[in-house]
Amino acid sequence: MTAECVFCRIVAGDLPAAVLVETDTVLAFRDIAPQAPVHVVVVPKEHHTDVAALAAVDPAGLAEVVKVANEVAEREAEGEYRLVFNTGPDAGQSVFHAHGHVLAGRLMGWPPG
Ligand code: AMP
Repeated sequence: MTAECVFCRIVAGDLPAAVLVETDTVLAFRDIAPQAPVHVVVVPKEHHTDVAALAAVDPAGLAEVVKVANEVAEREAEGEYRLVFNTGPDAGQSVFHAHGHVLAGRLMGWPPG
């Protein structure tokens, strides 16, 4: 946990969030600025800077993130979704705590912006 990390603060219960799924190691909650009708952020409870760091240190934790993302999408969008891990500022990462975005509920364009 880092005191300045917004997702660590949500995990700790210091900041409110609309939580959909909680497991021993993962939390899924609605994105505060949704980019699709369904937009849910799935985070490991433990702090890792990005998905690459999570994969290197805790592959099972990454697998749990993907499993929970799929559960959310099954529940909210009949299992059709995009799972995005922005990694690094140039890719659009703004919160440096590993997270996957579950985006669903509308047609997705390709290539992404
Ligand atoms: P990224 O830009 O890929 O790092 O994604 C970070 C996401 O976190 C953005 O989509 C933000 O809208 C979202 N976000 C930031 N603060 C909060 C918060 N307090 N509760 C829920 N989502 C948040």
